[in-house]
Amino acid sequence: MKRPRIKRRGGIGRLAEQLVWLASGLAESGCRVEDRYWEERLSGVIDTVLGSDDEDTLNAALDQLFGNDTPGYDELADHIESRAESAAGVSAEHDILLIAAPVLAWSRFNIPATSLSATTLANIRVHLQAHVLASGTRLAIADFIFSPDQLPQGYCATAQFAGIMGRAAIDGHDLHIETAGMPETTQFLSDTRYLLAAVAVRKGEALFRWQEPDGSREQALEQWRSQGGACLAPLMPGCALEFVLPEAYFAASRMADKGSRPYSVRASVAFLGAALDAPAPSLVAVIAPFWDQQIEEYRIGFTLRGREDVVHGVVWPLLGTEDEAMDVPAAIEAVLRECGVGDVRVLDHRFPLEYCEDCGAPMYPSPEGEIVHAEMPEDHTEQVPRHLH
Ligand SMILES: [Zn+2]
Repeated sequence: MKRPRIKRRGGIGRLAEQLVWLASGLAESGCRVEDRYWEERLSGVIDTVLGSDDEDTLNAALDQLFGNDTPGYDELADHIESRAESAAGVSAEHDILLIAAPVLAWSRFNIPATSLSATTLANIRVHLQAHVLASGTRLAIADFIFSPDQLPQGYCATAQFAGIMGRAAIDGHDLHIETAGMPETTQFLSDTRYLLAAVAVRKGEALFRWQEPDGSREQALEQWRSQGGACLAPLMPGCALEFVLPEAYFAASRMADKGSRPYSVRASVAFLGAALDAPAPSLVAVIAPFWDQQIEEYRIGFTLRGREDVVHGVVWPLLGTEDEAMDVPAAIEAVLRECGVGDVRVLDHRFPLEYCEDCGAPMYPSPEGEIVHAEMPEDHTEQVPRHLH
């Protein structure tokens, strides 16, 4: 999940003030003993706020610290995430952790968000326990592959979901997800899907395979890619897939957000190659920064060599503390070059964060330095995912 970016507000409430004070105190503490003092109190207030479903108080405190006290902001954000994903207060005897196994996908057709059969759940359970989780862990898997639109929205909803999943994990059974009334999935050429699960162990015991002396993250990822991949790939026909290491919910989501940026650039190049019979060397890619109050993202417009119209575009969002001081265009250019794109141009002009008024699609930079709607050539439109229309 992305950390919130700055929003200005009026005065903040008493609980938000307390969160700010405790997080700043923790950030300035010089030893573990003092850390523990602040941490216990900070966790206590966060649990109260999460328990009363008061998302505004958490955001008010984060907003107050953002830009004024970066170490304090980081402490508060880390502690809120940690309390939310570990279902604090659900069990006195167990440590609980909500985990996510993100899947990066691209397809010329639909990327499904779909329910899992009992057989698939049983297979996934075997592979998670053998390759990703420590021995002796209890596990609950949600029987649904979530799209980003369908994930719990906000810290409080995540904490509630972690609580429900955590109780199921202690009882050792999977969780049925009611799909009626779920938000609709926006279809993109490339997107992320999430398998969600919860792990429960006796307090203080290892959660993951790599916490055991003969395990490692690299080995866990390699085995999950092949074994977990074999379970999940049949559910997503017509999709190219890449598997992210299953991890604590927020850490895994951040890895997925980071990995999905180069993934979607590579997907775009592959898509244009297949849909327009336009191999990478014949593509022109234009990279430009898009601004609101601050820089928000880079957008990449694709054109065919010798033509002027932008046929496709992709967004490269900035994450966490990234800003214009980092050489993001160089990173994007490196990915495009790796894909074999022949002509890569970087524009310095600050473009406004504009979207199409009809369909909401982002506007992309053209080689002439204008922002335009991406349009596939007429005779190829029926093969294009909905958002490109
Ligand atoms: Zn449009």
